[in-house]
Amino acid sequence: MGGRKKDRPGQRKQARSLAKILREREALAKQAAGGAPDRPIVLESASQVEPRAETIGCARCDAEVRVTAHEATVSDGIPLRVARVQCKACGAERPIWFRLRSALPN
Ligand SMILES: [Zn+2]
Repeated sequence: MGGRKKDRPGQRKQARSLAKILREREALAKQAAGGAPDRPIVLESASQVEPRAETIGCARCDAEVRVTAHEATVSDGIPLRVARVQCKACGAERPIWFRLRSALPN
């Protein structure tokens, strides 16, 4: 055994795995419907954007979110809506992407 000091590897590992879990949860949320501009949730009308966005829990902690902004935007020539939501519990913010059926090209 060498004389090197050990610095509580268990505690450091725990902190690292929590950060990893949060990163994984956020990555999963980006892969889910609405998580990115190329995989929007399709809705019938713009009035559904905010109520629908609020049904999606926080990517980090699953708590309720509130919509802080609702914008019309264009991605790759496709008109999209983006709802910016903020978690009521942890404050994490993220965009949720929507495409309106009336705005589909075909
Ligand atoms: Zn949260």
